[in-house]
Amino acid sequence: MSTPIYNFSAGPAVLPACVRESLKADLTNYANTGRSIIEISHRSATYQALMDELNANLRTLLGVGQDRTILLLQGGASGQFAMLPYNFLREGAAADYLVRGYWGEKAAQQAARIGRITRRETLGQWNDQAVYAHVTTNETIAGTALPEDFTPPTIPLCADMSSDILAAPRDYNKYHLFYAGTQKNLGVAGLALVVIENEFLSQARRNLPAAFCYLEHAKANGIYHTPNAFAICALYRVTQWLLQETPEKIWETNKRKAEKLYAEIDRSPLWRPLAPKNERSITNVTFRLPTEDLEQRFLAEAEARGLCALKGHRALGGVRVSIYNAMPEKGVDNLIEFMQYFEARA
Ligand SMILES: *Cc1c(COP(=O)(O)O)cnc(C)c1O
Repeated sequence: MSTPIYNFSAGPAVLPACVRESLKADLTNYANTGRSIIEISHRSATYQALMDELNANLRTLLGVGQDRTILLLQGGASGQFAMLPYNFLREGAAADYLVRGYWGEKAAQQAARIGRITRRETLGQWNDQAVYAHVTTNETIAGTALPEDFTPPTIPLCADMSSDILAAPRDYNKYHLFYAGTQKNLGVAGLALVVIENEFLSQARRNLPAAFCYLEHAKANGIYHTPNAFAICALYRVTQWLLQETPEKIWETNKRKAEKLYAEIDRSPLWRPLAPKNERSITNVTFRLPTEDLEQRFLAEAEARGLCALKGHRALGGVRVSIYNAMPEKGVDNLIEFMQYFEARA
């Protein structure tokens, strides 16, 4: 028997095994059409049926109703760093950015190319003159998360949720707009899920080039231009999988996965956690070892045992364990077992 491979990549990240299997079939014979999903018209009944079901699945999983519009846009999360201010940051106004890590910084920098921003590092006080506030719910690189119960501002709240969307229970209706690149917890790269509250959406700019205009995409029902059908199909299969497993069960497992791993990290001084205890992420767990030499050895030996892609982001070094929905609990158990074996010989 060959060693099972566990892929802890931060993104593009592992897909559920059954989703990979479905996608194989979708690429040869989608829903018994004799054709693949990436070769049929986005105006066909087959594609429209997929979109309708996907929309319904997303509404169920996110708990959002008809007062919100769901868009699936090309350009990933980084595209949204620009599109959000492009659509809402009016001349003379400011947008307020909470910056507590790498991705929040990126979002703020991109917005500053388009208009005026104010920025802050601590939760709590917002610029209530701003047209919107922007937060990053989970900082993928440092492995830090915002507390789930923070008090929202009185102005519209927007969020980048790329690395923790649907990883734990959340009140998605607290946000006027949220987005996520789909290659982490939702599927494959090349797509952003964007959900916008309708009243807020109605205030978006209209006189923009259509490809970058939220209102145009909303009006065209997701087919203003040829959609990325492969990424959309992957998202569809992931939503089916989540509903079948039930989100409650997935979230319980995620909580257990993270708790076990943090318990191991706290157990031995060999592991040096990077995130403050009260900001620990449920999806990206980061730590260092005493020396870079030991880190190199740890990563190489882990890889040889099928525990892959554990290298921390180049900005921080060390180890990053990404444990999104599709990472089986067994992967985390195997990793912890390896950590203890490594520690005993370090
Ligand atoms: C990965 C990531 C991004 C960038 O996503 P792209 O789809 O590659 O643009 C943005 N924000 C967060 C929080 C991320 O984790």
